[in-house]
Amino acid sequence: MKETIGFIGLGTMGGPMARCLLAAGHGVDGFDVDPAKVSAFAEAGGKACADVAEACARASVVITMLPRDEHVREVLLGSGGVAAHARPGTLVLEMSTILPRSSLAIGEELRRRGLRMMDAPVGRTPADARAGKLLVMAGGAAEDFERARPLFDAMADKVLHLGEAGSGIRMKVINNYMAMVGMVLTAETLTLARKAGIATAAAVEVLQNTVAGRGQINVNFPKKVLAGDLTPDFPLSLGHKDLSLGLQLGHELGAPLFLGASALELFGMAPAFGRADQDCTAMLLILEQLAGCLGEGAGL
Ligand code: NAD
Repeated sequence: MKETIGFIGLGTMGGPMARCLLAAGHGVDGFDVDPAKVSAFAEAGGKACADVAEACARASVVITMLPRDEHVREVLLGSGGVAAHARPGTLVLEMSTILPRSSLAIGEELRRRGLRMMDAPVGRTPADARAGKLLVMAGGAAEDFERARPLFDAMADKVLHLGEAGSGIRMKVINNYMAMVGMVLTAETLTLARKAGIATAAAVEVLQNTVAGRGQINVNFPKKVLAGDLTPDFPLSLGHKDLSLGLQLGHELGAPLFLGASALELFGMAPAFGRADQDCTAMLLILEQLAGCLGEGAGL
């Protein structure tokens, strides 16, 4: 079924996402506070709207792709916003990256005012948005997901329903936690290489071809701890040794290793947890024990 969509927030991500919906044959009524974004959208074949009310007027689905919590709250719940102007029963797909608690509260308020909402943030980049190859992490009712699925499929090539309301946005925040900490780890590592006199290009070539760069989540975790196998491919005791080597090198060279220092503390706790001889991926179990959730989750 072709839907008429009110699309609010036609920026770096929202602009291309709205164009993908147009390309899939949906009617898209777009609004952005920046008139240049609205004009560009109209040139691409979308309907330009003067405000949120106009974007909602004939929509059966409203999509928001806005910068921060306060913009989402204002657009959805403000006096000139979606709750005040959308048709009863309209499905709101909230695709921005905001605080999960805000998302849940906004969803509750929308429901109270006769609308439905899914949190459906996206992973990947503006280039993927232009290519219709985003990853959608959706949270909310199964029937809403089924209805939204063709719209998600127009914008993404990986669409996942994570569970009840709030689970999509929680997963997005968790995803970005890993992405941003990885940013620091990558910068720390390349700085250490530079201080050690190794050309950055050479360091990148090595790291892209070892587990260090290919990612624990892709390589070791699925085949070891997540498969219930703690027999050591590489035990935590040797991980502790290697991390100490890295930190000693960094200290000699004057390279800042913030994350490495924290990681060393954790590796140093492995004997106290009785896990020194287990595979390095048993680090997950140490953290789960510290968090009081050991054994609660399902494996792969
Ligand atoms: P952006 O700033 O490029 O776009 C946001 C748009 O919202 C802007 O065009 C702005 O004018 C508009 N806007 C702000 N307030 C508005 C209002 N009250 N009414 C109507 N329009 C309004 O940001 P973006 O990069 O497109 O990101 C949007 C969301 O997606 C953010 O939450 C971001 O964290 C998330 N995200 C971004 C990326 C990325 O790589 N850029 C990737 C995934 C998710």
